Amino acid sequence: MSESKFDLQQWFEQKDGPLIIAGPCSVESEEQFCGTSGALASTGKVNMLRGGLWKPRTQPNSFEGLGSEGIRIMLKARQQTCLPIATEVATPQHIEQVLKAGFDAVWVGARTVVNPFSVQELADSLRGCDIPVFIKNPVVADLKLWIGAFERFANTGITNMAGIHRGFHGYGESEFRNAPSWDLAIEFSRLTNLPVITDISHMCGKPELMPDTAQKALDLASAGLMIESHIRPACALSDARQQITPDQFRQLIDSLVIRSNADTDCRQQIQLLRSEIDKIDSNLLNELAKRMQVSQQIGELKRASNMTVVQMNRWKQILEDHIARGNSLGLSPEFVAELFELIHQESIKQQM
Ligand code: PEP
Ligand code: MN
Repeated sequence: MSESKFDLQQWFEQKDGPLIIAGPCSVESEEQFCGTSGALASTGKVNMLRGGLWKPRTQPNSFEGLGSEGIRIMLKARQQTCLPIATEVATPQHIEQVLKAGFDAVWVGARTVVNPFSVQELADSLRGCDIPVFIKNPVVADLKLWIGAFERFANTGITNMAGIHRGFHGYGESEFRNAPSWDLAIEFSRLTNLPVITDISHMCGKPELMPDTAQKALDLASAGLMIESHIRPACALSDARQQITPDQFRQLIDSLVIRSNADTDCRQQIQLLRSEIDKIDSNLLNELAKRMQVSQQIGELKRASNMTVVQMNRWKQILEDHIARGNSLGLSPEFVAELFELIHQESIKQQM
């Protein structure tokens, strides 16, 4: 059994920039995989090649990968590019084959991580090996389940590990294919002391979102990126919509600003605080919209019973109460008065 020449721990310790893993979603043919790998390698911006051999597809009758037939193709690409190769493993049989072939790293996919029986079987099959293992976050936002998977591998002696944040299925309304949960990824790193790289392809689901997402990931101290690339994305047999050409890959990486660690710490805090503010603002807007709807209902009742829209005594009382309450919360009387005058004016408009 050959051992991986890629030392993940050492990479991150001596890290000089993010770890970039790129390659097609699936290995489809020698021409497609070696062609893509060669073009990616010539950008000089890839540290490891990825390629799916056994594809977990959402629906049957989709392309499920070349399976073991593709191993030869990936070995050839490694020989041509001198880049380490990684693939997804989901069963002990997959592991047996990639270990025998001498792959440099494996990853466990988001669908497999949700099943502790499968994860345990994979961990058991790797007992005694030092191959680097990447573990994607499970499709559901369950931090314990993700950490549990690492514990299973750690218990069988695997030390070379990193997480892959690929976003979460149906996590809030989102333009993402799998919405990120930056807080969860950071918490994961804090609790496990393991680096996390970001799979922007499965996260974004479309190239348009990738530059901002990649930058955000790096700003939040992501240790690297996984990016799906294909020489002809439109013809890809899986995940066609999200794959980018090697040329687009080069442009994307060139556009990124790599931060220093100190810079990153501060940015990470700022980004987290901004996310908090975004949530609060969005709640404020929801509450304001609700308030206006209630105002409209009151307006209808006032009309029906022939009351004036402005009830001066009630308004004065409300304003006084809010100023006093705001004061006790550390908000200046001027600010609270101005804010509620605006809200009140809008309420009146709604009732007219
Ligand atoms: C993949 O990397 O091709 C893949 C199937 O990803 P995920 O497990 O994140 O869905
Ligand atoms: Mn894919």
